[in-house]
Amino acid sequence: MQTVESLRPPSRILLGPGPSDVPPSVLAALGAPTVGHLDPYFLGVMDRVREMLQAVLGTKNRLTFPVSGTGSAGMETCLVNLIEPGDRVLVGQNGAFGARLAEIAERAGAEVTRAPGEWGRRMGREALATAAAGKKYKVVCVVHGETSTGVLEELAPMRELADSVGALLLVDAVTTLGGVAVDMDASGIDALYSGTQKCLSCPPGLSPVSFSARAEEAIRGRKTRVQSWYLDVSLIQNYWGSERVYHHTAPINMMYALHEALRLVVEEGRAARTRRHETNARALGAGLGALGLELRVPERERLPPLTTARVPDGVDDVSARRTLLDRYGIEIGGGLGPFKGNTWRFGLMGWGSTRRNVLICLSSLAATLRRSAGTAQDAIAAAESVWAGSA
Ligand SMILES: *Cc1c(COP(=O)(O)O)cnc(C)c1O
Repeated sequence: MQTVESLRPPSRILLGPGPSDVPPSVLAALGAPTVGHLDPYFLGVMDRVREMLQAVLGTKNRLTFPVSGTGSAGMETCLVNLIEPGDRVLVGQNGAFGARLAEIAERAGAEVTRAPGEWGRRMGREALATAAAGKKYKVVCVVHGETSTGVLEELAPMRELADSVGALLLVDAVTTLGGVAVDMDASGIDALYSGTQKCLSCPPGLSPVSFSARAEEAIRGRKTRVQSWYLDVSLIQNYWGSERVYHHTAPINMMYALHEALRLVVEEGRAARTRRHETNARALGAGLGALGLELRVPERERLPPLTTARVPDGVDDVSARRTLLDRYGIEIGGGLGPFKGNTWRFGLMGWGSTRRNVLICLSSLAATLRRSAGTAQDAIAAAESVWAGSA
């Protein structure tokens, strides 16, 4: 075989639905020496990762740790541990991730009720209550930040709804954790999963999960074994708990990276981080509006880390995104499902939510569109007025 050159990946500006840009100190953590998964040093890393996760999630839950896998692995972990065959599960369908939750719950043997919802709008309590049809449920699943549509769901009405049907509340916080305030205990969330590559600004590969005491009790009370050996939290807890029993080899270097990523979140502070995401998203939204793009979500339902806009008439979705990537090194996302071909997704996540990125994005987009309703100067002025107003 001929010699193969080593990789030299291009340096992009990742302004899509994830992964997001990773800060240098997190990348450096990946390159630190690999130690054993039972090395006393590593056990200390695990303890600090859990403590920081608890702080960032706003929880005291004992059962809090990162699953070895991406966000979908965390989704699957929460569902397969809580659900036994025949259990009733209620899921809103206002985006791609609600659909995935329903699919996994069905595969786990649940009797799933899909509440119809509109893409680009909140589910809201009413639609779920109507679909629940007066029955009791084991789990109600809610996507906090729907990355396929750019909608932020309110959690308080969801907790009330779950109470009214006797259910545990399971929340997808993949895109919200690290970008929008998540207060697991205060919000009464029973099970939650997230991912590293969105607002935590870490490469993809781990999925933080957490279970409330009530959820733990439900897991302890199971009559059947969890169908997945790899994702069985009772087995994984023997490694994360004081027993330190080998279950599977932890992704050591990814855990270093998550440690650094969480450290940065704690250092910035959750409130400051939430504000930064809100302000920069408003600036981006104002700039896109000035270019004549129509935002897809009503203002009060928007998800700050992810803004969706209609592809302007007469503009080819794929070739415009290709130009942004080839000429300016910028990645934005296309639409999924009913938004495919007609919607762009702009992510301002974690480390990537900066004034600089907003300005680069708006000016590159203006240059790409050529004939837009407003000029790059108009877009920049609109964004600047948001920052001026929030200073
Ligand atoms: C990205 C994402 C997921 C899936 O995570 P993967 O890391 O791609 O497996 C799940 N839910 C939401 C809301 C997401 O944005």
